[in-house]
Amino acid sequence: MILITGGAGYIGAHVNKLINENGYQTIVLDNLKNSNQEMVKWGKFIKGDLNDENLISSIFKKYQIDIVIHLAELTSVSESVNNPSKYYENNYQYSVNLLNIAIRFNINKFIFSSTAAVYGNPKIIPISEKNACNPINPYGKSKLMFEEYLIKKSKEIENFNSVIFRFFNAAGADSNHEIGENHNPETHLIPIVLDVALGKRKKIGIFGADYPTPDGTCIRDYIHVNDIASAHLKVIDFLDKEKSDIFNLSMGKGFSVNEIIESCQRVTNSKIPHVIKNRRDGDPAILIADNKKVKKDLKWRTEFNQIDDIIKTSYNYQKKIN
Ligand code: UDP
Repeated sequence: MILITGGAGYIGAHVNKLINENGYQTIVLDNLKNSNQEMVKWGKFIKGDLNDENLISSIFKKYQIDIVIHLAELTSVSESVNNPSKYYENNYQYSVNLLNIAIRFNINKFIFSSTAAVYGNPKIIPISEKNACNPINPYGKSKLMFEEYLIKKSKEIENFNSVIFRFFNAAGADSNHEIGENHNPETHLIPIVLDVALGKRKKIGIFGADYPTPDGTCIRDYIHVNDIASAHLKVIDFLDKEKSDIFNLSMGKGFSVNEIIESCQRVTNSKIPHVIKNRRDGDPAILIADNKKVKKDLKWRTEFNQIDDIIKTSYNYQKKIN
């Protein structure tokens, strides 16, 4: 059985779905603070917090868990800048709790969702896993702290193996529109731009047009959420070979905020008004990943390679929930 923390969240729901469709049984542990139980349509659902040691121990006692996929996290860069201790507690300390209990119950496979934010403002682009990690916001710092703890444990404990996935910008939704991105409040670019197209917001605010990029807006590497899910499926076999490693997960292409707005205009066939705002604290100018390692070692490929195709799936989901 596979325990998925955060399995009611945006990425977790897609991972949970694909893993169930491939014959694995899952338990989803989620506190539903930033997620929705309606997203858990597969596996067994348990509501709870990662700092509830009794609950977590009881899950490992009751169920034969073979693998932990740890996706539960707080994700907002701007919130982390305003409230760093909340991020160190939730993303670092609670993860340490979970890992230590898992180790106590002899779990020997652990998959952790980390983030491109651990790289900070990269000196070399595209960013390979060998790039230095210098996070520039508490979100990235809290994730890097747990990466380091997990790596230490993986070295110390014989037969315990872990994989760290550094997600770049997850986007899109499952093609049958059962699940998708629906944060409350929403802070992510693509759903906000699509809200404008759907008439739910008047304008998209662009956070800074004076970055050192060709059009002055920030560049990100977007990846379809089902491509993230398929990497989790691949990594289960990889962990069977008893190895620990770190992989970037991305499409390997960069798009500026302006280019995302243009893509949304093409997909929705509408004019999307924008306004330039101040930079958002904690945003690096460019994050584009080198994804050669994950392609080679996990024999993984992205199914979605065009930004318009990714945004189409988001749009179909947004239309359904509106
Ligand atoms: N962004 C923006 N306006 C918004 C939301 C986001 O200009 O209303 C920008 C943000 O500054 C970043 C990019 O879009 O450069 C992607 O932001 P998002 O929050 O989607 O993901 P992040 O890169 O922070 O994980």
